[in-house]
Amino acid sequence: MSDEVYRRQVARLFERSGFYREKLSRAGFVSPADVGSLADIAKLPFTETDELRQSQAAHPPLGAHAAVAVSETARIYSTSGTSGTPLYIPLTKADVEDWRAIGRDTYSKNGLKAGDSVVTTFGAGPFVAGASLAAFEAIGCAHIPVGVGNTDKVLAALKQLKPQALACTPSYGLYLSERISFKTSIERIIVGGEPGGGEENFRKKLQGAFGARVYEIMGIGDVAASLWGECEAQAGMHFSGEGWIHVELIDPDSGKAVAMKDGAKGELVYTHLKREAAPLLRFRSRDHVQVWTAKCDCGRASLRVRCIGRTDDMLIVRGVNVFPTAVREVVARFQPRVTGAILIRPKRRGVKQEPPLPVCIEGDNDSALAEKIGAELRNALTFTPEVRLVPPQSLPRSDYKSKLVDYSEAK
Ligand SMILES: [Zn+2]
Repeated sequence: MSDEVYRRQVARLFERSGFYREKLSRAGFVSPADVGSLADIAKLPFTETDELRQSQAAHPPLGAHAAVAVSETARIYSTSGTSGTPLYIPLTKADVEDWRAIGRDTYSKNGLKAGDSVVTTFGAGPFVAGASLAAFEAIGCAHIPVGVGNTDKVLAALKQLKPQALACTPSYGLYLSERISFKTSIERIIVGGEPGGGEENFRKKLQGAFGARVYEIMGIGDVAASLWGECEAQAGMHFSGEGWIHVELIDPDSGKAVAMKDGAKGELVYTHLKREAAPLLRFRSRDHVQVWTAKCDCGRASLRVRCIGRTDDMLIVRGVNVFPTAVREVVARFQPRVTGAILIRPKRRGVKQEPPLPVCIEGDNDSALAEKIGAELRNALTFTPEVRLVPPQSLPRSDYKSKLVDYSEAK
């Protein structure tokens, strides 16, 4: 079934997307017949975010990769533009409906049901996170969007409206957990928008502060919002895009396929099987994950992942890949002597670093503690840190995504 849908999609790309017609031809695939079946997809070239930006800059407004004109779209989101020029993400009416169905599946896995109310603190507006709001409605939830940047409003909504669920980024969840001074009605906290929601100690802290369980979600703007969702078993996020999106796992360095088996690690690569407006082929997500293929305790057999970090946040310390979120996870093992907040301050610009790598950690001012954390980081992540303990609450907090690497001391 997927193969038939895939072949139709490839034929459509040849017909309607100048970007893919050219890209595939350059790689030796001059017709849909050359591309072949879904089983052969690994032969095709990857699509990178930079290519989409260039395509849009050269062929405004939507780019040569888009397969529709503006008049055929139902909605056009844009990326936040944190890493350059904003990129438009068009959807047709059918795409909007598909995203809603995928999101509905994801939040249902999180345990949301009709009659629940949910406070959200995601920045929606022009961003794809806004697409998740329709998913809450589709489930039958009362949705209370509070938005970004107003903690008093969040606390007031929790107190007065007594919602069953709260949706936020892991960074903001941590920030709120340090400010909650009353017993909330929250049963589940849905975290997403950045890596880190799967970290065990982070979850313990959040679950303790709210008396609620944490469920992680993950989406990717160019592919689909709310694409993965964790279930009651809390054993990784289930894939909700079956039939719509094809997933591959690759080694980010070599680009070679990694077999999807229990425990395998790699970067996720996505292909739209049905997307109409801006279908992508083998899109590199830069999300580095661990996968599980075995049936989950909840009974679902769909693929599960835990996000380890973003390959574009990654540092390489004398040949060792270091993910800032993984550093935060190891440091969190020392709670309550640390708060869980960290900031890596590289001594030089760029990805490649020489040890020791300076890591600022909020916690008790105790050299024995610093030594223990340093040893644990060396052990778990095989790089040598320079642990700098700093007073609690001295590192910057964010109500959206916390910065974990700060280059201001770099030379
Ligand atoms: Zn499950």
